[in-house]
Amino acid sequence: MTVRNGREFLSIPGPTTIPDDVLNAMHRQPVDIYTGPLIALTAQLQDDLRRIFRTDARTYLYAANGHGAWEAALTNVLSKGQKVLVLESGRFAAGWGRMASMLGLEVEAMPGDWRSAVEPAALEARLRTDIGGEIAAILIVQVDTASSVVNDIPAIRKAMNSAGHGALLLVDVIASLATMPFEMDEWGVDVGVAGAQKGLMSPPGLSFVAAGKKAVAAHDKADLRTLYWDWTARENEFHYYKYCGTPPEHLLFALRKAIDMLFEEGLEAVFERHRLLAEAVRRAVDTWSADGGLEFNIADPDARADSVTTVLLGKDGDAGRLLAYCTERCGVTLGSGIGDLSDKAFRIAHMGHLNAPMILGTLGVIEMALAALGVAHKPGGVQAAIDWLAQSVPA
Ligand SMILES: *Cc1c(COP(=O)(O)O)cnc(C)c1O
Repeated sequence: MTVRNGREFLSIPGPTTIPDDVLNAMHRQPVDIYTGPLIALTAQLQDDLRRIFRTDARTYLYAANGHGAWEAALTNVLSKGQKVLVLESGRFAAGWGRMASMLGLEVEAMPGDWRSAVEPAALEARLRTDIGGEIAAILIVQVDTASSVVNDIPAIRKAMNSAGHGALLLVDVIASLATMPFEMDEWGVDVGVAGAQKGLMSPPGLSFVAAGKKAVAAHDKADLRTLYWDWTARENEFHYYKYCGTPPEHLLFALRKAIDMLFEEGLEAVFERHRLLAEAVRRAVDTWSADGGLEFNIADPDARADSVTTVLLGKDGDAGRLLAYCTERCGVTLGSGIGDLSDKAFRIAHMGHLNAPMILGTLGVIEMALAALGVAHKPGGVQAAIDWLAQSVPA
């Protein structure tokens, strides 16, 4: 028996649900790539991305997923043999570091335990020992989608300033942009890297880089530059060069609509919606975990992201069975654990085009699965989520 037929929920941390209006915006024939409205569209999107990154910096759009934007960020500001410091707090910064290593950069990791945010004090201590200023760039993610930690980017910048260190600060906001505040200029971030398919509610395949003044100065000297990613080539006024070839038109049409929707709601309201729904998830997980059994992966409540929550199952938990039940019986696809967490954890995504029924439905299915599979948990998680939302969203 299943209760699956109906609208299915994809509750993984990217790609996220694409609004119907965004899907429909792509349902049209291509337009000319050399003249006409497409040229204005690119300029508008570059401006709107500045509004979202909260910066006056240059912005670039790539026909690539987030990994492409990682490569764009590294190759535009660094030279072979330079050192980067990777601040690990889960899988993603480490992956960016592996890419750096293959590009010929020297990579030093500040390892994390996947259960907590990067310690600004530890960074400051490390930077104080870098007397010769060998570290050219620091790589960090704002939200790590594997561990579901949120790093305190302003505190990271403060630690760099306290140590008097001049490295570039490169921040991956792929799983956080348009789900929580990010203030590129105010926080002193030199390069921001984002993707379309998470908070920006668009199809995968587009990614973005914002490059501040210091990054542009480093770009002038960088020798890892290649034509496809190169910012200078993309500054050419001939529109074709802005994408180093044919623009990904339909993805741009989709992004245009998605950004319109975000601005119509208002970014502050978008953040608040994410915060409320994320807290509903946390109330549910808190209840399920009350007698042991389940557990938050991120111990410190202040370091839990508003876009995704990683939940650990107890010793006897079998994440594969739980995920299969949710998908096959109920039509809700949750995120699986990543890396070491693969059989012991599941992830609930709560970012992008998401409202109360979607999150309550997802939580309801998880609680149903815990009961059906006999996984030890304290019932009442969904009720706790409802109570939180009822109190936070007044009549
Ligand atoms: C999803 C994600 C990536 C990778 O993006 P792709 O589009 O899959 O290449 C990188 N960093 C973070 C934090 C992510 O969540």
